[in-house]
Amino acid sequence: MTRQNIVAISRDDTTPNVEPQRFKVYTARQLQQIPQLAQLSEEQRFDMQVVASVLPFRVNEYVINELIDWQNIPADPIFQLTFPQRGMLKPEHFERVASKMRDGADQASLNQVINEVRADLNPHPAGQLEHNIPQIDGETVQGLQHKYRETVLFFPSSGQVCHSYCTFCFRWAQFVGDKDLKIAARESGQLQEYLRAHPEVTDVLVTGGDPLVMKTKNLRAHLEPLLTEEFAHVRTIRIGSKALTFWPQRFVSDEDADDLLALFSEIQAAGKHLALMAHYNHWRELEPAIAREAIRRVRATGAQIRAQGPLLAHINDDAATWARMWQTQVELGIIPYYMFVERDTGAQHYFEVPLIKAWEIYRDAMQQVSGIARTARGPSMSSHPGKVEIQGVAEINGEKVLALRMIQGRNPDWVQRPFFAEYNEQATWLNHLKPAFGADKFFFDA
Ligand code: SF4
Repeated sequence: MTRQNIVAISRDDTTPNVEPQRFKVYTARQLQQIPQLAQLSEEQRFDMQVVASVLPFRVNEYVINELIDWQNIPADPIFQLTFPQRGMLKPEHFERVASKMRDGADQASLNQVINEVRADLNPHPAGQLEHNIPQIDGETVQGLQHKYRETVLFFPSSGQVCHSYCTFCFRWAQFVGDKDLKIAARESGQLQEYLRAHPEVTDVLVTGGDPLVMKTKNLRAHLEPLLTEEFAHVRTIRIGSKALTFWPQRFVSDEDADDLLALFSEIQAAGKHLALMAHYNHWRELEPAIAREAIRRVRATGAQIRAQGPLLAHINDDAATWARMWQTQVELGIIPYYMFVERDTGAQHYFEVPLIKAWEIYRDAMQQVSGIARTARGPSMSSHPGKVEIQGVAEINGEKVLALRMIQGRNPDWVQRPFFAEYNEQATWLNHLKPAFGADKFFFDA
């Protein structure tokens, strides 16, 4: 198939004529210029500014104008997803930064406090900076992670922002401009070199930030080389992205949208599987006509869209929201893939849901949909030893326990091993759990 042919297929008779839209974004510096925020009190806007000085803030006009219901703030889930709220910092952290700002402290002393607060927020959960970093000839390779045998994560440097930022993002440290906290590859030569040396790798996950903020020609430069015979062992290319939510124009009306879809088709035509790992948190993200058109166009290339996202207080911590989201995804041809547990970093205290409650929501949502929408795994913790799924509460020999399963493991032998923890209604992460039946450690601690 030629490239022109592929483009012709992706823009068919049903593609509406969508005018290219200007991408306009607001960051912490322009927060006060967002017209809709004028309806808030001065104090509320100050609170937002304090939080936005610590956690990353970036939101574009499409999100502001099309996704947020401004009649329903602050409860609106998309407002909570993108706009800083006072509770996202613990009171002592909030006060430390707020008092500096109120006193008109100079930038250097303000930055010092901000950095101290950030350091307190576990900026790199699950040992991201120290572990999983591969080496070539004893040299560390920047911008790659290799945690699970068959999958390599690639962080291209031009994909380390997003069209908007999520307030709960577990990669928030990537976005605050501190080089020590950043993972990014300057070029893809090292990825290729690493893959040549690792024939056991079948999956490459291009991730960020959001790699689809990149121009298509840059993304093409990273991916096209992987389509050659030399990389025949790479069977699946995954792209982690929230562009279907935050900027669906990327697939419809941006000037290189057609070329992006052509690239997707070429990957499929080369015999590889292309999976767009779409990040969704609420069914509202699937409502706008342009979001649906973007999904239709991606699917027309043969790429598969798999949906994943965490369970979050203030945004989606009820079964009906998940059931409706999964059902809508299935109707649009998206495969529900994961319900995650909010990770132990950043504003976790604001968004966290106890593990047992998370499982109850998951189960309740599953019961509301048909089998075809029950493909989402979860609730799942991406922890240091691996991905741990909460399977439920059971009673064994009179002891109430939490049944868990390792669905992905640092050691391939661990995959699919069930294990048990003491029942604990407060636990929100793996390190809060104790082994059941009096054991002194979990099998992966041994
Ligand atoms: S789109 Fe993904 S990487 Fe970007 S801010 Fe949201 S959660 Fe983080």
